[in-house]
Amino acid sequence: MLSFRLVPLAALCAATVIASAQTGVPGGRSLPAGVETAPITLSVDLTDAPRKILHATETIPVQPGPMTLVYPEWMPGEHGPTGPIINQAGFIITTPSGAPVKWERDLVDMYSYHITVPEGVTQLNIKMDFLATSGANFTEGGSTSANLALLSWNTILVYPLNGDIAHTNVSDIMFSPSVKIPEGWHFGTALQPLDGATEASSHAAFQTVSLEQLIDSPVLAGRWFREIDLAPDVTPKHYLDLAGDGPEDIALSQQHIDQFAKLVRETGALYKSRHYGSYHFLVTLSDQVAHFGLEHHQSSDDRVPEKTFIDEGSFAEEGDLLPHEFTHSWNGKYRRPAGLATPNYQEPMKGNLLWVYEGLTNYLGDILAARSGIWSPEVFRDRLATIVADFNDARPGRTWRDLQDTATAAQILYNAGGPFDNWRRDVDYYSEGDLLWLEIDETIRAKTSGKKSLNDFLAAFEGLGGNTAPKVVPYTFEDIVSGLNAVVPNDWATFLRTRLDSNDLHAPEIAGINTLSGYHLTYTDKPNYWSTLNEGDGISATYSLGFTAGSTGTLGDVIMNSVAYKEGLAPGFQIIAVNGRAFTPGLLRAAIQEAKGSGPAISLIVENTSYFQTISIDYHDGEKYPRLERVQGTPDLLDEILKPLAAGKTNGL
Ligand SMILES: [Zn+2]
Repeated sequence: MLSFRLVPLAALCAATVIASAQTGVPGGRSLPAGVETAPITLSVDLTDAPRKILHATETIPVQPGPMTLVYPEWMPGEHGPTGPIINQAGFIITTPSGAPVKWERDLVDMYSYHITVPEGVTQLNIKMDFLATSGANFTEGGSTSANLALLSWNTILVYPLNGDIAHTNVSDIMFSPSVKIPEGWHFGTALQPLDGATEASSHAAFQTVSLEQLIDSPVLAGRWFREIDLAPDVTPKHYLDLAGDGPEDIALSQQHIDQFAKLVRETGALYKSRHYGSYHFLVTLSDQVAHFGLEHHQSSDDRVPEKTFIDEGSFAEEGDLLPHEFTHSWNGKYRRPAGLATPNYQEPMKGNLLWVYEGLTNYLGDILAARSGIWSPEVFRDRLATIVADFNDARPGRTWRDLQDTATAAQILYNAGGPFDNWRRDVDYYSEGDLLWLEIDETIRAKTSGKKSLNDFLAAFEGLGGNTAPKVVPYTFEDIVSGLNAVVPNDWATFLRTRLDSNDLHAPEIAGINTLSGYHLTYTDKPNYWSTLNEGDGISATYSLGFTAGSTGTLGDVIMNSVAYKEGLAPGFQIIAVNGRAFTPGLLRAAIQEAKGSGPAISLIVENTSYFQTISIDYHDGEKYPRLERVQGTPDLLDEILKPLAAGKTNGL
């Protein structure tokens, strides 16, 4: 997953069943013979998606007696108990003759329904709606508009426990899914349609798959829909499936199509493997849906603002999203931390290795964006400068919450952010992970005089077993250490723990990056390209006064112990006037410049919950924006890292 903020600021063909690493059910009560192999049928009706309500009917083969049905709770890629049960509605169970079967929710586990199947009954019919009305993120979030819908199957199904949670494996539970879509819409998915259904069919049944593969295979449908065959000479196949709020939204340039095709080639050259039979980028271009990315083995659910593919600033801003989510097919789905490789959706996950799952993916997404030409090297460096500056000077929460804890606490931190985020921190393992894995890459290159790099680690780690069907191969901290040692011997365990457990104000990775990159962090009074994107119509004084302000003067975050914090400012305060004049971002910028050196202190009138005060800020160091400055006489390692690996067209990889 890629969270929706920028800097913390935040398929093998479907015929092949995903083979989970957890095979077999150790002991416990198994369902009677025949029951576990008979598929559950699930039919989802999207014709009311424009009204933000989805309908489903599900038939489950059963045996008489007590049983428990569960709604998926712990969602892969969301790293937490985020299954959106709050928006389940109209959940009614009947026998084939229409007699109601009363369900009773578990007193402790809100995701469990206990029922007793009447004597003589071998099938239950279930009706269920999902209210696609939430403004939240992830699969709970907005997924429909008047002309499109993204179906996440986990939102609208239940499945039977095999006795209890401990003995239930979702790779053993089979589903026969189908979907009905509004007239005139088209769809894309990694699922394999049956009976000649095409992307233009208004009703499509799909091949029977495991529940694991079903939930891993969302469906994107829309009136304004386009499927682009990327790098058609490469096997397996890759598709860019686009649905937009309007027809203009999906009219991206040939240059951008070529960049995504290059991305396909670069991943083959980097990971030396593919773990799917075909891959679908399912891109929703809409201002009406939640914005995030969610990874799957054979597809990704990429939801971005409507004009992302036709506006150059937005295209740059979202440039790492597709490379990030695509990388997850290897790093996160195929190779998965042992604590996240759970056998079902009810067993809690452990996020302690998310600095690999997400941190490494974040780094790889960034360098792949550059190697594919989505970002120029300059844009890559400007973004990196912003991350380095944040973790050097604007994330003081490091002094009490180490990088490790941001991963361990992931399940409570995804919805964090906002006021005082710099002091609490949130899922910082994404962007601090950029720095950690950059330093590792540079360290390998330095220790081997450029003969080896992180690329060698990735070819072995992500390419384990060569091309495979989608499956899960778990790993531990020790596996990471031994994988790095196989590339170049080093005390990698200490290297990693020193950084993961550090409570230094300045992230320890930065010293290594400053030494090895051929660049070091500096500040200038001119915003870099990335700073300008982040500022929008407001102003960032993060590294000078210690806050950001929106276009009307409302403060975003205020950095703990910054000049502004010490003078009494806090997030949510509104700057009414700067040096006696009504606030504008430009006036504040001018006041900071005027105060530089021996200029006057900056006078602000601010409002806090309807009360006003005047604050004088005695700051004279001018505007500060981060930049990576070349260290003359040293090798340009960043330039080396960003060089494309794929030479022209490749076959299969
Ligand atoms: Zn991710």
